[in-house]
Amino acid sequence: MVDRSVVQVGDPVLRRRAGEVPADRITSEEVARLIERMWDTLEAVPGVGLAAPQIGEPWRVVVVHDLPEFLEAFSDLQLVERERGSIEPYVLINPTLTAVGHETRTHFEGCLSVDGYTAAVERFHEVDVEFTDPAGQPRHRRVRGWHARILQHEVDHLDGLLYVDRMNTLTLCSVASYRDLAELTTHEAISRLTGSAQD
Ligand code: ZN
Repeated sequence: MVDRSVVQVGDPVLRRRAGEVPADRITSEEVARLIERMWDTLEAVPGVGLAAPQIGEPWRVVVVHDLPEFLEAFSDLQLVERERGSIEPYVLINPTLTAVGHETRTHFEGCLSVDGYTAAVERFHEVDVEFTDPAGQPRHRRVRGWHARILQHEVDHLDGLLYVDRMNTLTLCSVASYRDLAELTTHEAISRLTGSAQD
């Protein structure tokens, strides 16, 4: 049976800097198989993004998508607040991120490798990402909102970082507890969790 499990926090592979995929290996069978396993795993979970270390492979490869069916769980207001919309599936090999400006946004995020929790994390609002696609072509995108958040989260994985390293620790919350806060705006949820300490 194909292994579709996601490596959980505590495994050293999540804390190591992942290696660049050598230019002459980008279009190899081996990398194609790795990408296929990543998509299979992400679809099985399901989730919006996965970095290769999360399936135990220490390489700088990320897959990202945000599907219309994922968005149905949120109200229009929540989608607007999070600046979240669907993202066509794509693969980033050896990505490098640069913040565009200094503006940030704070929202709750979770991680497939830190199962069962969520917390508020401040991220840059807009980023530039340069990467190579699986055909070996150099690519550039400028994205904002939730898409920018996903990329920052995934590229952190390639550097051995998890969202818990960047979260507002007062907002750490089990997914079960967060269900009671899900209708609130991020600001309201943070106030509730921190006893308005942030107001
Ligand atoms: Zn993650």
